[in-house]
Amino acid sequence: MKHSLNIVPLKDWLNTGLEPLIIAGPCSAETEEQLISTAHLLAKTGKVSVLRAGIWKPRTRPGEFEGVGSIGLQWLKRAKEETGLLVTTEVASAKHVEEALAAGVDILWVGARSTVNPFTVQEIADALKGCDIPVLVKNPVNPDLSLWLGALERINQAGITKLAAIHRGFSSFEKTAFRNEPMWDLAIQLKTIVPHLPIINDPSHICGNRELIPYISQKAFDMDMQGLIVESHIDPSQAWTDAKQQLTPQALSDLIDRLVLRKPDSDNPVFENKLSELRKDIDRLDDHLMKVVSDRMRVVEQIGNYKKDNKVTILQLNRWDEIVQHRSNIAKALNLDRDFTVKLLELIHKESIRKQNEVMNMAEVSEV
Ligand code: PEP
Ligand code: MN
Repeated sequence: MKHSLNIVPLKDWLNTGLEPLIIAGPCSAETEEQLISTAHLLAKTGKVSVLRAGIWKPRTRPGEFEGVGSIGLQWLKRAKEETGLLVTTEVASAKHVEEALAAGVDILWVGARSTVNPFTVQEIADALKGCDIPVLVKNPVNPDLSLWLGALERINQAGITKLAAIHRGFSSFEKTAFRNEPMWDLAIQLKTIVPHLPIINDPSHICGNRELIPYISQKAFDMDMQGLIVESHIDPSQAWTDAKQQLTPQALSDLIDRLVLRKPDSDNPVFENKLSELRKDIDRLDDHLMKVVSDRMRVVEQIGNYKKDNKVTILQLNRWDEIVQHRSNIAKALNLDRDFTVKLLELIHKESIRKQNEVMNMAEVSEV
């Protein structure tokens, strides 16, 4: 997939000198007192760069708390003046953009329910024309990379170059330990397509509960993501939205202290030497793996010819069951993950069937 993004590096527009980059604050601004006191506690940790708070809340069902609305912009302004934190909020319409810009909000974010809708994203993009404000684009609720990239492109085409993506996980029909499945592959694919696009992880909306947040946060940094956006509330269990997933400012501070930050590479020559030695081993083993797969395919071809001559079907289920059973036992003894082994065998089996089909059809053509 190609992209047409023209982006300014993160350090040129969000450099508060704090490492790692942490955006934190309540899911929703509820009252002026709640927002201001949370902001002060977060600022006091000395670890938070940006205060987040939703003032227009996208709720799945009507009748729930839908945010305090425009008045919350004044609270954000006060929080910024009193703490020095930059402030960010979610915008989902042209009106939101205009009001947020007028109130001096520093960074805007586009929520997951807006990213799925190109009409909404275009409306937001049009309202942003001529502005120089940073925009963070959450992944769409459904696992569709094109929608995510498309939203970033629409905003970028409106002239916004201070852009980052937020990885907040994807809805899935099956109930799992996560509120939204991380599906790391999609974020990695986005990074592969646009290597210079910063990706910020949102462990709160991925997890849906406090317990898993440290695990996902660490994993995000291990995956070379550029920061976290975490929901933090002065009294989480009393929060009006997302009560189960918010952390107190103190718990957030402890979480940040426990994170192990890694760099994409090291300037230590001993490490570099050892790494290049190990990489040579990997190269050698991969060459060997390719050779073994190629040898296997050659035998598959011979079997194809043999089956053809003897008028035997390509697919023989008991043989396949036997292979999976036998290889899984070996894999277990070799400490390989069973699911991985089965997936690998299925891939090899699929290619073997394709190969035998090719052999049989070619034989048929040459017989005519
Ligand atoms: C939020 O950040 O509070 C929010 C509504 O998130 P999302 O768009 O990821 O659901
Ligand atoms: Mn939330």
